[in-house]
Amino acid sequence: MDSEGLARLDRRIAGCRACPRLVAWREEVARTKRAAFADRTYWGRPVPGFGPPDARLVIIGLAPAAHGGNRTGRMFTGDRSGDVLYQALYDVGLASQPTSEDADDGLELYGVRVTAPVHCAPPANKPTPAERDACRPWLVQELRLLRPTVRAAVVLGAFGWQAALPAFAEAGWTVPRPRPVFGHGAHVELDAADGPPLGLHGCFHVSQRNTFTGKLTPEMLRDVLRTAATQAGLRPAK
Ligand code: SF4
Repeated sequence: MDSEGLARLDRRIAGCRACPRLVAWREEVARTKRAAFADRTYWGRPVPGFGPPDARLVIIGLAPAAHGGNRTGRMFTGDRSGDVLYQALYDVGLASQPTSEDADDGLELYGVRVTAPVHCAPPANKPTPAERDACRPWLVQELRLLRPTVRAAVVLGAFGWQAALPAFAEAGWTVPRPRPVFGHGAHVELDAADGPPLGLHGCFHVSQRNTFTGKLTPEMLRDVLRTAATQAGLRPAK
């Protein structure tokens, strides 16, 4: 476990200004705010991953939300997507509480790290391919630091899947060709020449568009989390 390395990486990510469009957007949102949060100080910077440095399971989303992670400074914290994700993690015994409202709320994750292939909130939740590629080295470094312990990954949504596959390859796992196709419940084993394999699991994103329409139900999400956590050597609750 390299907790110092990961903490150092998180600090470096939080200072990144590589994408001019995203720097401008995240800072403008932090200045103008949403009326409901007018009295809050927004984070307005890149949002690092959240969770212990010896995580056995990594969950990879898309990017922070403008008034969620970009406001609170913690992944999936302070927005509806996060409500769904952390409730499910709590339900399967991988989080200390079902809510995730701000960075000081005491939430702990058990053996799980939550991160994203793009660390800054993008306009309309849509990073450009160039922004996705610019941010990949951060994910590669995070995965390399987690490699001694991480044994499974849940990727939320097709964007995250496409963005994460090359990062897994650069971090030392072998990604099959042709590349595995994203789908809810998709499962691929990524071998590594110099270490244990990684179980890769696809899951629909926890966006409101999916959860409000029933495309992703809490039960579907819990099932994927349980399967991946069990493969990772964690002991999820039934
Ligand atoms: S999206 Fe990633 S690479 Fe671009 S500014 Fe944010 S942290 Fe840096």
